[in-house]
Amino acid sequence: MQHIPAFAGRKLVLFALAAILLIWAILGLDRWSVNRPFSLNLSGFSGDFVEAANPSWGFLLFAIALVITLMIVKACRLLFGIRDLANSQLALQQRVIDHASEAMILTDAAQRILSVNAAFEVTTGYSAAEVMGLTPTMISAEHQGLNFHRSVWDFVAENGHWEGEIWDRRKDGAIYPKQMRITAISDKAGQTSHFVATFADISEARAQAERFEYLAHHDQLTNLPNRLALDAHLDNLLDSAVPGINHLALMIIDLDNFKTVNDSLGHHAGDRLLAEIARRLTAEMGRTKRLFRLGGDEFVVVFDQIDNRAELLSLLERLVSAIGLPCDIDGHQLHSTPSIGISLYPQDGRDGLTLIRNADAAMYAAKAAGRNNHQFFVESMNAAANKRLHLESELWRALAENQLVLHYQPQIDLLSGKVVGVEALVRWCHPLRGMITPAEFIPVAEECGLILPLGHWVLLTACRQVRSWLDAGIDMGEMAVNISAHQFRQPDFVQTVQGVLAETGLPAERLELEITESTVMHGVDSAIQTLAQLKAMGVRLAIDDFGTGYSSLSYLRRFPLDRLKIDRSFLADVDTDPHAASLVTSIVMLGRSLGLQLVAEGVENFAQAEFLRTLECERVQGFHFYQPVSAAEVVGFGRCEEYAALPA
Ligand code: C2E
Ligand code: MG
Ligand code: MG
Repeated sequence: MQHIPAFAGRKLVLFALAAILLIWAILGLDRWSVNRPFSLNLSGFSGDFVEAANPSWGFLLFAIALVITLMIVKACRLLFGIRDLANSQLALQQRVIDHASEAMILTDAAQRILSVNAAFEVTTGYSAAEVMGLTPTMISAEHQGLNFHRSVWDFVAENGHWEGEIWDRRKDGAIYPKQMRITAISDKAGQTSHFVATFADISEARAQAERFEYLAHHDQLTNLPNRLALDAHLDNLLDSAVPGINHLALMIIDLDNFKTVNDSLGHHAGDRLLAEIARRLTAEMGRTKRLFRLGGDEFVVVFDQIDNRAELLSLLERLVSAIGLPCDIDGHQLHSTPSIGISLYPQDGRDGLTLIRNADAAMYAAKAAGRNNHQFFVESMNAAANKRLHLESELWRALAENQLVLHYQPQIDLLSGKVVGVEALVRWCHPLRGMITPAEFIPVAEECGLILPLGHWVLLTACRQVRSWLDAGIDMGEMAVNISAHQFRQPDFVQTVQGVLAETGLPAERLELEITESTVMHGVDSAIQTLAQLKAMGVRLAIDDFGTGYSSLSYLRRFPLDRLKIDRSFLADVDTDPHAASLVTSIVMLGRSLGLQLVAEGVENFAQAEFLRTLECERVQGFHFYQPVSAAEVVGFGRCEEYAALPA
């Protein structure tokens, strides 16, 4: 910035004053000392008088000179003070301008640069000398065009100011965004005499805003756009879509076995599986196919500009095979399958929300149809989705109004044929729909959190039942109760079991808790701790549905278990398929090597029972022996000395 010109040097003026004072003094003293009549002789005094008065005149003259000199000195000091003040203010202003974080340009009325500050040099890379005399437009970017810059300056000339974001080019050629304010400065006559432009590089702030924007619209695990982005994308497509001309498909892809992976191998493995599948699906996308992650194991593909159904089916095929490729995670080879629901624009919905809701209903239909398949939306699916919602609200009422009952399925000792235990299986006696199986409502109860009160009710009722049988002198052996993962992971689960045993007065060894593999494989250390506490109380522990999860043998050894319940899916073909038979044989041997008792569930025929007998699998449970029945009925089975279906 320019500096206002200084007054004459302070030393020079003081020197001049001192010289004047000296001359006056010499003159005055000279007259006084030489005793000469005063040349002006103002009043015609006599010589005597003059002689007497001479020294006084000289002195007077000297005094006047001194006063004038002092006044001049004072005036000079005042002027110097003003000058110093003005200069220090200017210096301060200069320092403020130079240290300002915003770049500044001062131009004349013709927009020629008169001065710039240090921030300008830093921001633009140009030195003050390089830009002096140029116009800001000449050094600005072509990014927004010369005309744009001209129009901005013309706007200022007309309106006095302008503020906004513009793109500029640094000396090194880099383009950057800046927030700029230009103000016109007028002289006393109201004519624009100068322009001041201030601006700041906002590339960092803009990058930050873009990062926030990205985070808000993307999923961090897979880097895929999220639900918000999906809504925006659909709005964008559907706003300009014309029914009958444009066709669009929305697919919701849900992984079938994901929960098991997460529960058995932990979230880390689950995350890696999701990231890998996201990567494979992304490879199938293109300009008209976009992939989103809704959360959890749910992905969405939006396919617009579809020409024919074959195109859609071919994409579906590619997606399914991409998901199906084996995935190596932490030494486990995982195979995933998807359940896919598809809704189409315009027939299944003309807005994003409807298309998503209908694809979701179709996805549930695909799950209900046995998973690993795709379903196109049909109107009746909405009724099924509504039914699920309805089920949830009804389930709360069912618990409050005692609509739940326990049925008991006996477990048989294969050698003696006696009932050695029963498994409690919950049923819902719906006032209108009759008996509802747990497969239908337990997952809903798990989803909505109702599983905790429901599970507690099952545990208490089952323990009360055994207590009352014992009190009546009936020995049905152990009572096996299914415990869901959510229940087992409650920090006070051990105390809950302890409380129920205390309340019912049931000996702990009469209670057996059935826990699935995935429940204990998730958070192994705390699972071992919980199991050890239960074991110390005397409660029996069984792994349910063994073979369906991802058990790690090294962990299995560390769990203080009593029994393994071989999942019924392994039993299905043992009498016909040698592979199935050898699989069951291996499981039995494995259990035995771990010192565990084996229970085979789902025994449906004599051949299966015989096969298990040859393996010396001690306990069985299945329709071949007994169906789950009410407490009153099961007592009758317990009284049988020998099971009738056993061969003689
Ligand atoms: P689960 O614990 O494996 O129970 C055995 C299931 O197999 C029962 O089905 C039983 O009726 C059925 N089953 C028994 N023998 C045979 C057979 O020979 N063939 C066939 N095909 N099935 C047989 P249910 O009662 O429908 O229960 C299904 C699942 O629901 C249970 O599987 C268990 O995981 C869950 N569940 C049942 N009651 C409860 C409960 O009180 N709490 C919790 N958390 N889950 C429960
Ligand atoms: Mg069970
Ligand atoms: Mg089972």
